[in-house]
Amino acid sequence: MLLLTYMLVGVVPLILFTNTIFRTMDEYFVEERKKELLNQANILSGKISDSQYLYDTTKWNQFNEEIRLISNKGNFRVLVIDASGIVINDSSRQDIGKTYLVQEVIEALDNKDVSRQQEDGVIYATVSILDKNSNKIGVVLISALSDDVSTMVGEIRNQSNVLFIMITIILTILIYFSTRFFIEPLKNVLGVIIKMSEGHFDQRIDIRGIRHNEITDLALACNNMAERLEQVDTSRQNFVSNVSHELKTPLSSIKVLSESILLQKDVPRETYIEFLEDITSEIDRMTEIINDLLTLVKLDQKEIPITFTEIELNQLIIDITKRMKPLADSKKIELNYILLKEKVLADIDKTKFVLAISNLVENAIKYTAEKGFITITVDSDHQNVFLSVSDTGIGIAEEEINKIFERFYRVDKTRNRETGGTGLGLSITHSTILMHNGSIKVSSKEQEGTTFLVCIPLRQT
Ligand code: ADP
Repeated sequence: MLLLTYMLVGVVPLILFTNTIFRTMDEYFVEERKKELLNQANILSGKISDSQYLYDTTKWNQFNEEIRLISNKGNFRVLVIDASGIVINDSSRQDIGKTYLVQEVIEALDNKDVSRQQEDGVIYATVSILDKNSNKIGVVLISALSDDVSTMVGEIRNQSNVLFIMITIILTILIYFSTRFFIEPLKNVLGVIIKMSEGHFDQRIDIRGIRHNEITDLALACNNMAERLEQVDTSRQNFVSNVSHELKTPLSSIKVLSESILLQKDVPRETYIEFLEDITSEIDRMTEIINDLLTLVKLDQKEIPITFTEIELNQLIIDITKRMKPLADSKKIELNYILLKEKVLADIDKTKFVLAISNLVENAIKYTAEKGFITITVDSDHQNVFLSVSDTGIGIAEEEINKIFERFYRVDKTRNRETGGTGLGLSITHSTILMHNGSIKVSSKEQEGTTFLVCIPLRQT
């Protein structure tokens, strides 16, 4: 395809262009030759008139010599024809005495001198010879092959044709290889993109052995995109299966509980109450999961805009601590805050941010044993707020730290069931902090404690 385009766009106009140039050159040289022959004929005609060659037979030899010389010099044939069309002198001596009434001779005798190329390429230049009284007594005819001019142009044309063919061959080879070099890998990339658009995210472009260039960059970007899409696809599938699993567990418990009451006869009222309480707590758990899921979905829906307002964060942390105090007190945990700056004004979406920080504090309480300590610190510089939640709890194993922000991820499933976590809290916090253009980091040591450090910019532009 590229080759064809190149031929159409490059070669065809070039052929037309060179042809036109050569035709113009040819025409130009013929025109010049015609003028030159006419000029020579004029000079000769003048000489013949002046020297009376036609009347004075004693000058006949001189006349012959003159004609021979001019003809040799100019590389053309000279004929002198009288008014009746009979050749009286001929530089080639072939046609003396013959009648030579070509169109050009008639025209010259008639009224005007001409110089014209014939169909066979020969140029005729005719000029009338005048006597003293300006009567036309004959015609000088110079005939020359235009071959020498045409040969020259033809030769140049041939040479340039050879050059042209060579350039075309070289260019064709170059384009063929560059097509293979560029187009083939591009075709690969395109093929993989098409496959991906059909949902095959496992496709990768093989870039081994290809020299590094823009196309390998494109292929790499494409592979990265495929990898990312595959991850998104897998996490979507995992999410759906996790949601189903999480909701199935309480549902199974409810089913078991209700069936066991139904199967028993004469169940005492206390047992009913006990079972119904268990059922209610399972329903509460399901509600909790669904609520968390709804929060996450809302955070994911980018079209619901996040609304930033300027809020004083020291006060916000004081309020959160106050709300969490009873929960901490129930485990005899000491919950404190350290406010390092007098005032910290930051642009936040209050509801979402409070939920995100509350999740961290709630977790700190959940994963800290009785009589532990939790400290919330607020600090800032010119650009950012730094907010940390530190506890003296059970800590998180190093290999788990990267996974805790994943949806439904819980380090210890059984213990979490007791503590009632859904595994969605940190996902919510993470998404919220990202929406605030911030970051969240964890440092933790098992059996010593955990610190979550949140950093968000003071100004959201
Ligand atoms: P959950 O609802 O189970 O608490 P989260 O998403 O809030 O879910 O947290 C995910 C997991 O990270 C928790 O199950 C827990 O194992 C771990 N984790 C979170 N915060 C802490 C913490 N302060 N100390 C120890 N482990 C924690």
